[in-house]
Amino acid sequence: MEGDSSDPHMPRGRILKTRDRFMKFELQGTTINFAQALSRIMTAEVPTIAVDYVVIEENTSNFSDSFLAGRLRDIPLTSRRTTSLCYSSDCPNCNGKGHCPLCSVKLRLNVKCKGKSLHVTSKDLSSSDPAVVPFDFQDTASRGTEILKLRRGQEVDLTAIARKGLGKDDSKWVPTKVVTYFALAKVRINEEMMETLTLEQKKEWVDSCHSPEFEIDPCTQKVVLSHPEEYVDDEEVIRKAEAMGKPGLVELYRRNDTFVFTVKTKGSLKASDLVMKAMDILKQRLRLANPVEDNDTPDQSAGSASHTQDFDEVD
Ligand SMILES: [Zn+2]
Repeated sequence: MEGDSSDPHMPRGRILKTRDRFMKFELQGTTINFAQALSRIMTAEVPTIAVDYVVIEENTSNFSDSFLAGRLRDIPLTSRRTTSLCYSSDCPNCNGKGHCPLCSVKLRLNVKCKGKSLHVTSKDLSSSDPAVVPFDFQDTASRGTEILKLRRGQEVDLTAIARKGLGKDDSKWVPTKVVTYFALAKVRINEEMMETLTLEQKKEWVDSCHSPEFEIDPCTQKVVLSHPEEYVDDEEVIRKAEAMGKPGLVELYRRNDTFVFTVKTKGSLKASDLVMKAMDILKQRLRLANPVEDNDTPDQSAGSASHTQDFDEVD
């Protein structure tokens, strides 16, 4: 799949691995500043929906009201609806009070323990909007995120108000669990020197590498780096070469124009959606800062899915 050649400011992306809440990808033809900005936007500037306010009607549990509110704020809520939900501070319908359907979603929790004990989880919440539910609500393999445990006769009755927000304003809106990136390794093997090693010596040298990306090609018996995008700094191979009397057998560099990202989300957004939304935000920002001379006006109405052409498919 071709990159977005119409935009001179955007790097080319290549997805290396992707699952629901995990994505590993490579950005080519970019800078450390772009990588830093993308990382920050993913954590702080992509809106999500989270519990922001809790009204407690009844709480006879062993836990305080503030503890309950904190537990609810920490549960990621599915945030596909962020484009149609107003920020409560800007809501024209309720003048910023943040309680109307245009800018908030209500989640009810009304549970009473009639047996010996009761584990209350995210699956006991009832949402006013089926698109905004706890991230594990639909996961039949999950028992849900535990909120509290009740004993016989104890009861909790509350309404949680969820609102749209940004991670830079409060951690409850942060969509990411992990964002890391590193410059892609460039490895130069001195082939002539390598061929002076016996097969046993090559195996000994390959085994000294902490990450398993160096391997011996079974056909040619040459040492190759199979997955450069997986390779992390490993000075051990250099020390091992020196110990074997072969200094300069391998040289390691970091490319300053290609970065490998690993992103894990808490569950409010799919990792791929988060990356695309962050790329869109950064793209708009760069276009505003550096207008394209041929008046290639960005399509403000386009959804995040329309920009997936910036990424090549999984290998
Ligand atoms: Zn409102």
